[in-house]
Amino acid sequence: MSCVASPRDHHPVRRRRPHIPTTLYRAPAIPPTFDVTLSPPDLSPWLNGNTGIPGVMTHDSPNPGPHTVIVSLIHGNEYAGAAALARLLRDGLTPQRGRLTLIFANLDAFSHFDPENPTASRYLDEDMNRVWSPERLKSRNTSRELTRARELLPILDTADRILDLHSMLWDSEPLLIAPPAPHAIAFANALAQTPHKPDLVVTDLGHRAGHRLIEYRYFPQGAVLLEAGHHWSEDAVTRSRQVILHMLEGHAPGLPSRRAIVTDNVVAQTARFTFTRPYRGGEIIASGGTVLAEDGQDEICTPYDNCLLIMPNHCPGRGHMAVRLARLI
Ligand SMILES: [Zn+2]
Repeated sequence: MSCVASPRDHHPVRRRRPHIPTTLYRAPAIPPTFDVTLSPPDLSPWLNGNTGIPGVMTHDSPNPGPHTVIVSLIHGNEYAGAAALARLLRDGLTPQRGRLTLIFANLDAFSHFDPENPTASRYLDEDMNRVWSPERLKSRNTSRELTRARELLPILDTADRILDLHSMLWDSEPLLIAPPAPHAIAFANALAQTPHKPDLVVTDLGHRAGHRLIEYRYFPQGAVLLEAGHHWSEDAVTRSRQVILHMLEGHAPGLPSRRAIVTDNVVAQTARFTFTRPYRGGEIIASGGTVLAEDGQDEICTPYDNCLLIMPNHCPGRGHMAVRLARLI
């Protein structure tokens, strides 16, 4: 067992409820609706790119430095990061040193965005942030996301550092996710020095369904995923922009305000997963054993004192991540 998946202190995360609750057999909740207050950005000037790969722009500085790659639209409906990149490109963003490559990743899915059904265009065939293992990429499998991922490999294989821009369906505390390697955590810590949030750096357990882009390979200066805030909010655009500029200005690493290690991925085992409160994420639950949610005949509990809730999903389908539980360090 790795130190990341450390043994829990006292309490099981999932336990059978002491009695069958009356809420167990209620009808499934009506799927929520989400306000889309941010329009999709106009990416037409960059669809062809300047590298021979659509949607990929590279700019070189005369000064030596790392190859920095900023990726947006790994999820087609998370366009706050793409909006931030589009505005920076319009402003004439160029690197002061090294090479800077900007990627609009899943343009196909993005082109299907429909504000009436804004969650449908996350991907077309499969989640593009689960395809990044060498085995998957070299396999004979095909999907539109795999094809696009393979098209981006020549860029990603020369990257020294990666910033992958994402946002959240449920408005939650912004955060940075880094693989559990010291240099990646140091990179995330430096980004967390942005004057406004995110000030929380999380290392997590990944996803059983496959590797994320930040786990694709060893990036010498690290790979970090930004969850900038609610998908369709101006806040997420502003925060993405701040983190990008902070990175490109080359601030020295420091200590983040807070760092946490995810100890448990709570996956819904039924379609009736329901939190006991409208948790937003970022809450610290003081007592271990506190019931957080019901999932069919089970209840979900905090495994230890001062447990941090990460990105609760208030309408998880069966088999989907409902919340991550983390320990502050
Ligand atoms: Zn995402």
